[in-house]
Amino acid sequence: MIKLLLLVLCGFVFYSMISGLLRPGKSRRPENHSDEGEIMVEDPQCGTYLPLSEAIKATIHNRQHYFCSKKCLKEYKKTQE
Ligand SMILES: [Zn+2]
Repeated sequence: MIKLLLLVLCGFVFYSMISGLLRPGKSRRPENHSDEGEIMVEDPQCGTYLPLSEAIKATIHNRQHYFCSKKCLKEYKKTQE
């Protein structure tokens, strides 16, 4: 009788291990902490805010500007000339 109980217990432990392996992601959180603590800068050409690390830096008339793309940088330079 005790052997049977142990067998059932082992089976239950085994089953919960397997079902735990087959159902991943219950404790896994989606990664949406990308912009936290990042300095945001504004693109003066199109008005987009983007993280400083992704911005294209340019000094125009002794002022530092940040752009989302080279296209914006070119267009902004054109308007400043
Ligand atoms: Zn832009």
